[in-house]
Amino acid sequence: MTAYRNFFASLSEERKGRKVAPPRFRSRKDNRQAIRFTRNSRFAVLDNGRLRLPKIGEVPVRWSRTLPAEPSSVTVIKDAVGRYFASFVVQTTDEPLPPVGFEVGIDLGLTHFAVLSNGKRITAPKFLRRAARKLKRLQQDLSRKQRGSNNRAKAVVKVARAHARVADSRRDWQHKLSTRIIRDSQAVYVEDLCVVGLGRTRLAKSVHDAGWAAFTDMLEYKAARYGRTFGRVDRFFPSTRMCSDCGRINEKLPLSVRSWTCPCGPVHDRDVNAAINILAAGRAERLNACGAQARPASVPAPRREAGIRPNAACSTRSVEGTSAL
Ligand SMILES: [Zn+2]
Repeated sequence: MTAYRNFFASLSEERKGRKVAPPRFRSRKDNRQAIRFTRNSRFAVLDNGRLRLPKIGEVPVRWSRTLPAEPSSVTVIKDAVGRYFASFVVQTTDEPLPPVGFEVGIDLGLTHFAVLSNGKRITAPKFLRRAARKLKRLQQDLSRKQRGSNNRAKAVVKVARAHARVADSRRDWQHKLSTRIIRDSQAVYVEDLCVVGLGRTRLAKSVHDAGWAAFTDMLEYKAARYGRTFGRVDRFFPSTRMCSDCGRINEKLPLSVRSWTCPCGPVHDRDVNAAINILAAGRAERLNACGAQARPASVPAPRREAGIRPNAACSTRSVEGTSAL
């Protein structure tokens, strides 16, 4: 209902921002299911580590970490592969890390996943690409199975499992990288990429493989949690072709040009130059905003985790445990 209201408001331009797509059809065959229990529905985490759910009973859980506080709700998700996840909403306080003197600008790209303003390059593991051939074969197997047959159902699970494995390892890698960057830097600035736009171009596969949006979201909520500064720099800012020494804006560069020389002298590596500019722009924006706010814009809750309620005083986050089912 809300989806339709937003869609029509977007059409008539009552609603600001990006155009909202019409609500998507939810397939009956969609094999991802979720259910949320609140405190009122009397779920409980038992002393023996099990989870008691109303009408279901006691469920054994393999905890990914201990709950820092009493959870206010739990969402149980069954994914396409048939694995069950329990995602808890927990009130926590931030855990600021000791301050460090390093600030960083990050250029997200395709040749490298990220290039830092100090010249460090981080290569993207091409999880999807590597798994693509296997996936293709599994998809073909699937397409040859008769509709409604048991063998088809089995093939569907195989495809889903291959996708899930890729997604899991990508998320894991991004968590490690984002934690390291936040720990080592007092302020982190990234370019506000138009991932939606890029995803529709021919670069789509690489873009989605790279998973920038999920990564910058991680940086954002980890920055809030650990007392670091995080900022997004306007995506129309010419980070690539502006000289980081003299500020001159040079000719548009085709993607194939990896380095260029500014009339003022220096030879710039395309990506490192961009990262340095992002750092400078992020710092400038923060200085402009100073006085107006002592903290970065808002305390964000991770967008992609289930059941998040942002709260003014504390950040809320979910803790996931994998059920042994
Ligand atoms: Zn220059």
